[in-house]
Amino acid sequence: MKHPLITACIGALAATAAFAASTDARFNSWPTYDGDDLELRVDASGTHFTLWSPEAQAAQVLLYPTDRNSAPDDTLAMTRGDSGTWRASVPAQLYGKFYTFRIRHDGAWLPETPGVWAKAVGTNGHRAAIIDFAATDPAGWDTDRGPELKNITDAVIYEMHHRDMSMHPTSGIVHKGKFLALTEHGTHTPDGEATGIDHLKELGVTHVHILPSYDYNSVDEANLPANTYNWGYDPQNYNAPEGSYSTDPADPAARVREMKEMIKALHDAGIGVVMDVVYNHTAENDGSNFSLTAPGYYYRHNDDGSYSDASGCGNETASDRRQMSDFIVNSVKYWAKEYHIDGFRFDLMAIHDTATMDRVAAALKTVNPSIFVYGEGWTAGASPLPAEQRALKENVARMHGIAVFSDDIRDAVKGHYSDAADRGFATGKPGNEETVKIGIVASTDHPQVDYSKGNNSKFAYASAPTQIINYVSCHDDLMLTDKLAASMPGSTPAERMRAARLAQTIVFTSQGTPFMWSGEEIFRDKKGVHNSYKSPDSINAIDWSLKHTNREQFDYYRELIALRKAHPAFRMTDAADVARNIVFDKTTQPNLISYSIRNHANGDQWAEIKLVFNGSDAPAEVKIPRGDWTVIAEDGRISASGLGTTRGGRLTVAPVSALILAR
Ligand code: CA
Repeated sequence: MKHPLITACIGALAATAAFAASTDARFNSWPTYDGDDLELRVDASGTHFTLWSPEAQAAQVLLYPTDRNSAPDDTLAMTRGDSGTWRASVPAQLYGKFYTFRIRHDGAWLPETPGVWAKAVGTNGHRAAIIDFAATDPAGWDTDRGPELKNITDAVIYEMHHRDMSMHPTSGIVHKGKFLALTEHGTHTPDGEATGIDHLKELGVTHVHILPSYDYNSVDEANLPANTYNWGYDPQNYNAPEGSYSTDPADPAARVREMKEMIKALHDAGIGVVMDVVYNHTAENDGSNFSLTAPGYYYRHNDDGSYSDASGCGNETASDRRQMSDFIVNSVKYWAKEYHIDGFRFDLMAIHDTATMDRVAAALKTVNPSIFVYGEGWTAGASPLPAEQRALKENVARMHGIAVFSDDIRDAVKGHYSDAADRGFATGKPGNEETVKIGIVASTDHPQVDYSKGNNSKFAYASAPTQIINYVSCHDDLMLTDKLAASMPGSTPAERMRAARLAQTIVFTSQGTPFMWSGEEIFRDKKGVHNSYKSPDSINAIDWSLKHTNREQFDYYRELIALRKAHPAFRMTDAADVARNIVFDKTTQPNLISYSIRNHANGDQWAEIKLVFNGSDAPAEVKIPRGDWTVIAEDGRISASGLGTTRGGRLTVAPVSALILAR
């Protein structure tokens, strides 16, 4: 997530103000409610409303015939229940109706809210809807399952936005910008290249990571022809899908059904779905659904009572309070159960406390052991939460079943994220070698890696490779194509594509879990826009005609992914295995790294894999032990099944390329 005003979004920020202790004591004394029937339950006896609002002086449910522009049919007075709740019931199943809550607070009625647990909503998410969820299930949903995954390191993650994937005319997709875009098979470019879900299958990724797809605030669902674009890091209703990705935002069942159809289609294609979740802040402050149901409770504050702002977006939520922690845990469980989501990516995860993240991972494993969780191990501003409690990158070894993005490998390989002109290892800048090695061993302790020379981190913060997500590009900052253009002035596209291949070869062969941004495989760009969160489709949409133009680039990525998937040596799960099986060769030349993965690592068929990365613009000579080697990659080409053979000895590694040999 990147707020328009925030350009620095990296690294642990120093501990700041002390807690607003009195506010905390007050909120922590509130009773909490852990039932799973919060706000709406429909059963044989009728429709039941339960609102958690311990300090409300009164509470009401307003029932509506439509999602907007109508007066309430009825207003129900709620009565105080247990554990800070208010309750009201109607002895009928009110399917088809819409509802809101409102509470009396400090002597005045607050504005209406659909609550914090609305699972279906109408246009722009202002009113919650009562729908029959069983009727939203696609055919075969009962037996639908995502790919089974033994370890997160077996995943290959492809981050994407719904509009980016389908809006361009060359996509050949009918349901442009919709959930349904990824249900269309047989779509192709005018050149006949597969697009959409067929493209994903051809590429071989195991999971798509969809940018925020819960109901967010910024796109007007009542005016879809305006084609407004937004990444969606402005949460409104956490437990309902975004309406602009549905074919009819006014039909509350449509967004639910169509999102499920997308997930079903991906699952049928063997691809899992990771959802980007943004529980760390809300789009609104006093006007949010949190504020309108339990004013103050869900947020952290400064000592002066103002909202603290570790998100850089005006507020930060308080996962360290029980009802907020429960909200996050129950919300991800809901998405996993109702929508069969296979993984969660936590935005600005370090705003949350480590205990909540442990609860999240544990709860999800009970739903589906293949589910994995990762997040940004940093905040975007100062937080009152003490640093030792934050789900920071540096604290990942203290969490259980959580992974963090490695900004170490990201910046070392391609250059610093915030300095467009800065180069990295793959683009010829010396001084990044040790940090790339930190990436190769997934930030775990290794006898040949000197963490004191790390650019971003100075210690082995991961205790297992399963705690690390490796990447050089994501939706934030300049995507790789644009970063290379900005940092390699005067270069040709062919030279930049070569650098991209080296950069991604380092990522995809490193220990940890690889992650890529959509369209890099065909070398699409975003016209140099580094924060395209609300840029138009003309910036963000993938021009699929590039797949034909840059077919060799696509084939390289596809083979690179195939190589990783075929070889467990790249997917070790134990830090001791990494320390034992990875052996770095002594190199004195800058921008040169050479290492072996030995001992049939992690059960690999190959006894030894030799990887040499040359990030300089001069050839490098390396000495390879004599033997019968299969050449997997050389001089900007790669084949998972082998390009040829060599007997080793003195070999030349071409400029800006990877040499991979196996025996
Ligand atoms: Ca919305």
